[in-house]
Order: sequence, then C-alpha cells, then structure tokens
Amino acid sequence: MMTTSASDRPLLRIPAKRWRAVLDELAARGGGHRESGAFLLGRRRGRRPKVTHIAYFDDLEPASLNGAVHLTTAGYTRLNRICSRLGVEVLADIHTHPGDHIRQSSIDEDNPLVAVPGHVAIIVGHFARNGAGLADVGCYRYDGDDGWAPLTRGVSHWRWLR
Ligand SMILES: [Zn+2]
Repeated sequence: MMTTSASDRPLLRIPAKRWRAVLDELAARGGGHRESGAFLLGRRRGRRPKVTHIAYFDDLEPASLNGAVHLTTAGYTRLNRICSRLGVEVLADIHTHPGDHIRQSSIDEDNPLVAVPGHVAIIVGHFARNGAGLADVGCYRYDGDDGWAPLTRGVSHWRWLR
C-alpha cells in the first residue's frame, strides 16, 4: 500500500471547469492592463479542501483594482458576510501579474490577504490571458512568522484538477 506524506497531498482541489472560468474572469476584469484577483472559497472538511465558490475582489470592493490590488475593511466585511452565508471559508487567494512574473512582489510578501498560517496565495502571469495551466502559476503558503513557503514546483503534481 502506498503511503502519502503531508506534502504529497493536494493543497486544494478546484474542478477544471471552475479553474478555467476563474482565469477567464480575471483576464476580463483586468482588461489586459491591470491586476485582478479573487478569493477561492470552500470547506476544509476532509483532507482535500475543494474550491466551491469564488469571490472576486472587485465585486467585494469596486475600487479595489487600481493597477495593483487593494482591499480595505469594506471588502473584507463583505467577504466575511458571504462566507458565513454560504458556510464556507477562504481557502486561498489568486491574483494576476503582468508578464511572466509569478513570484510574489515585496508588497505581496508583506501583506498577506489572509494572515492565517496555511493560507495559500496563487499568482498567475500575463494577467491570466494565456490560459495558464497549474504548472504555470506561482503558489505560496503563508507560514505566519516564518513568512512564505514557495510551492511553485509542487503545483502540477498536487492534483488540484480532477
Ligand atoms: Zn502580486
């Protein structure tokens, strides 16, 4: 019998259709010239949290996309309301970058959108216009005081898609 170490387990699962839909939305909302983003919501039940809902930053707070991404208390208040209404929690956030920069900027590193250890931040290049596969995204886990653990190389074999 095969045993699975913690690092082999999928960090989260997102159905392929939903992943493509998220990329399309992010590309459209960014208009090819500005960053956009969303929270990936779902339940942590079991060992494989599954993304069931998406909350786009500009839906939470229309003024949040101003080149980069800036969410204030107003956006988080709406996010919390959505999560409690749906009975879900924030599993990860995703945002776009220009070009092929899928590393966190210093602003990204210093400002986790959800400062809870285990939170995952995903970065998609080319403002999500290139239909990125999971191997093309940057993935980082927030480890609290230890900062971020880059998980980029692990993304493709963590079966996020099914
Ligand atoms: Zn960024």
